[in-house]
Amino acid sequence: MAVKTKIKVKSMLVEMDGDEMTRVMWKMVKEKLLFPHLDMNLEYYDLHVKHRDDTDDRVTVEAAQAIMKHGVGVKCATITPTEDRVREYHLKKAWKSPNGTIRAMLDGTVFRTPIIVKNIHPFVTAWKKPITIGRHAYGDVYDNAEMEIAGAGRAELVFTPAGGGEPIRRTIADFAGPGIIQGIRNADQSIRSFAQACFTFALDRRIDVWFSTKDTISKIYDARFKDIFADEYQSNWEAKFKEAGIEYFFTLIDDAVARIIRSEGGFLWALKNYDGDVMSDMIASGYGSLAMMTSVLVSPHGYFEYEAAHGTVQKHYYKHLKGEETSSNSMALIFAWTGALRKRGELDGTPDVCTFADKLENAAIATVEQGVMTGDLLLMADKQPGNRKASTEDFIDAIAGNLDGMM
Ligand code: NAP
Ligand code: MG
Repeated sequence: MAVKTKIKVKSMLVEMDGDEMTRVMWKMVKEKLLFPHLDMNLEYYDLHVKHRDDTDDRVTVEAAQAIMKHGVGVKCATITPTEDRVREYHLKKAWKSPNGTIRAMLDGTVFRTPIIVKNIHPFVTAWKKPITIGRHAYGDVYDNAEMEIAGAGRAELVFTPAGGGEPIRRTIADFAGPGIIQGIRNADQSIRSFAQACFTFALDRRIDVWFSTKDTISKIYDARFKDIFADEYQSNWEAKFKEAGIEYFFTLIDDAVARIIRSEGGFLWALKNYDGDVMSDMIASGYGSLAMMTSVLVSPHGYFEYEAAHGTVQKHYYKHLKGEETSSNSMALIFAWTGALRKRGELDGTPDVCTFADKLENAAIATVEQGVMTGDLLLMADKQPGNRKASTEDFIDAIAGNLDGMM
């Protein structure tokens, strides 16, 4: 039997394994879609919740450092521990979100774009083209300081200048009884690189940029985002955007939400960290499914981290553990790998790796368009005679069949 030469992925790719059903799919994707065709150098980090616990979460920090060293990482979905999860997995404590830790270290912006297939139409019928969400992945509530207030007393914001000088204080509230407070922050430098990442992404794809914050209420914090975007745009992008026939516009987030629903899509919607977290779920379900959404963190330092936008699909995993058949969608995980491989190929100057990524995406899209799909998609797809619900594994096998035909 002739042995096919595998495509060589030249430089190291950082792999971060995860939890539950996505961990099950992750292994299948590698074994059935990647290993048969690719000769990869993978630096493996196991972000399974139990392993994070065993290492006091050092493994998450090491994984982020590895991305900073090698440039490109691909991450499976992971459990963000809650009190329930602490009990379920007997954890030492509710460790921070791994995504939060990694994003805080890499800085940067998360771009999420729906994967469009011909036989599934968005729930929002006005949407004809993909809406990409650009989520600022730094600071705000994800890296906050919170405090329970036991009883009456004054809560203040205090800034102590590093070089000496009088501390600056603002009263948050004079509490009459128990309550809560939260301190959040952002940095001008990070906001500017967020703006730069968004304008770069949009110019590259020739799409408009919308940006929205709550600057009418938050006259210092949110207004700073608006001002930095405006300054960055006027200084460095306006001329290039005019030439490309695209636009930047800012509007209050309430207005943006109302307009988005009536728009036809085809633009980048830039959002602060929390807004982007929430709105990307809204956009994903508007287009169909969380499992049909790609996600990439672009850091201003030139690091890229690819992941799925959805979580670990916990309910399906419990069925899987009981031995029941599951029909979980691996599209977003596959596109995390193809995104990472394509970027690795671009950076390494190995076009055959980029071509492989294109083929695998086309094989996955073709599988759904042929009518072979997981349960989440079958509910939304055009009703065609050939449609069939595939199990988690059958779906990946069908993609593997299409891919083999293209190689
Ligand atoms: P989820 O895993 O995204 O799943 C929510 C529901 O969405 C599922 O129950 C399923 O609906 C549907 N779904 C999501 N992905 C799917 C897929 N690939 N194929 C088919 N259906 C899919 O969110 P969750 O249940 O709220 O969170 C589970 C765990 O994931 C949590 O521990 C959370 O911390 C973690 N999480 C991780 C990330 C990340 O690492 N990026 C992001 C979000 C959440 P049906 O049950 O109706 O079929
Ligand atoms: Mg979210």
